[in-house]
Amino acid sequence: MHSCARKLLSLPPKSIKMSLLTVGSVAFDAIETPFGKTEKIVGGAGTFISLASSFFTRNQRLVSVVGGDFPKETISYLQSRGIDTTGLQVKDNEKTFFWSGRYHNDMNSRDTLATELNVLEHFDPIIPESYQDTEYLMLGNLTPAVQRLVIERLHKRPKLIAMDTMNFWMDIAMDDLKETLTHVDVLIINDEEARQLSGEYSLLVASRVIRNMGPSILIIKKGEHGALLFHGEQVFFAPALPLESVFDPTGAGDTFAGGFMGYLASTDDVSFDNMKRAVIAGSALASFCVEKFGTERLMEINLKDIERRMAEFVSLTNFDMVPTLH
Ligand code: AMP
Repeated sequence: MHSCARKLLSLPPKSIKMSLLTVGSVAFDAIETPFGKTEKIVGGAGTFISLASSFFTRNQRLVSVVGGDFPKETISYLQSRGIDTTGLQVKDNEKTFFWSGRYHNDMNSRDTLATELNVLEHFDPIIPESYQDTEYLMLGNLTPAVQRLVIERLHKRPKLIAMDTMNFWMDIAMDDLKETLTHVDVLIINDEEARQLSGEYSLLVASRVIRNMGPSILIIKKGEHGALLFHGEQVFFAPALPLESVFDPTGAGDTFAGGFMGYLASTDDVSFDNMKRAVIAGSALASFCVEKFGTERLMEINLKDIERRMAEFVSLTNFDMVPTLH
């Protein structure tokens, strides 16, 4: 077996050394897809990210905010996955952030039906003292000013800072977003967002423009068409696994980011080669996420399932060829 494949197939032991801090929404979602509809279920970028990374690291912290209506059992469940929730504020007299979306028949695009900010409207990301030694930081999609505040509030800069963002912030807070970008190492966005942020159609050109804005590493997610990783002159492409059923894509991007950062934190290796493995780890987790509504599938799977799926990625992309035609 190829040596890289061998490395991929054995997951790193759950790290207790390197800490990962996730900042992101913990929410209620209501989702409509061509296959069904949910009432309010637990969602949020912070939830998907931290659940995904909990497969790789036990040294994980969460900063977020929920209302008094958020189920205590879910918080206990997150804790049971090794997620430190000291930084999860509970505002007893307020309501949890609520998002609702409806997917089109192609499952690639969706309409937002409702966004009720509630507790997120005046979110002040307080960093507990016990989080100050954080080594890896994942900033989920939030106001760019809040993302920056988190970085400023950490007395020591983490070893690696990654962030997600969305078109919405490009439309209403581009200057703020650009300022935040100067402080991060990794930006994880989708192809449409990369085009809007850079003003370039070619993703290769867009990747250069965006990396000139601050992050030295860029990941462009292309949904069912995989993901691209850029660093310096190096580019890596990971396909998405062809799946029999895509049920609900909500949170797939966050799950990818959580898998990616969880893998990096647990291996404590930020070389390009290890980032490629982290991209596959993130892609494997995202492929589970879409198989059921919300976080349901992520709560069922175990490390063996993930290893099997990573092996599928290896065999899907592995081929022998001597690139000489004469
Ligand atoms: P994704 O499918 O990766 O775009 O992520 C969907 C998750 O993001 C859902 O669970 C929502 O609760 C959450 N979400 C949607 N809009 C926002 C927002 N404006 N701020 C924070 N989280 C959001």
